[in-house]
Amino acid sequence: MAEVESFTLDHDAVKAPYVRLIAEETGPKGDVIANYDLRFLQPNEQEMPTACIHTIEHLLADLLRDELPGIIDCSPFGCRTGFHLMTWNVYSTTEVAQSLTKVLTKVVNEIEWEDVQGTERKNCGNYRDHSLISAKEWCRQVIEQGISDDAFNRHVVTLP
Ligand SMILES: [Zn+2]
Repeated sequence: MAEVESFTLDHDAVKAPYVRLIAEETGPKGDVIANYDLRFLQPNEQEMPTACIHTIEHLLADLLRDELPGIIDCSPFGCRTGFHLMTWNVYSTTEVAQSLTKVLTKVVNEIEWEDVQGTERKNCGNYRDHSLISAKEWCRQVIEQGISDDAFNRHVVTLP
């Protein structure tokens, strides 16, 4: 059986919202990729509705790329408490938490429905299941609580 890092994490020990570096991995040619846990909600206490997490996924795919060059992918966790982020560049959790804070603040304050990319039938696998209102409300909660750069001890980042 494979040893899966996320299944060894004590989900009762973490304090969301936080950014955690899951792993840095080096490929056969020396390229390094980093994998992060962007935890929006406390595990087993709250979860985002699917329309909310789906819309946030579309927004992060666009807005987080402007902040962090080298993003490979950002995808929702099946448990709906956060997202995986994979990057070519290795950033500190402080840098990722600051970028995420900036992006979620923009979602809450500036983003209109026309700004959400890929919400037509031809470019989304479930275009009927989106909610910007819900996305804004859950992002607001994350911003109000503050994003920590440490998963186990609250250390909320501030913007430079
Ligand atoms: Zn979609």
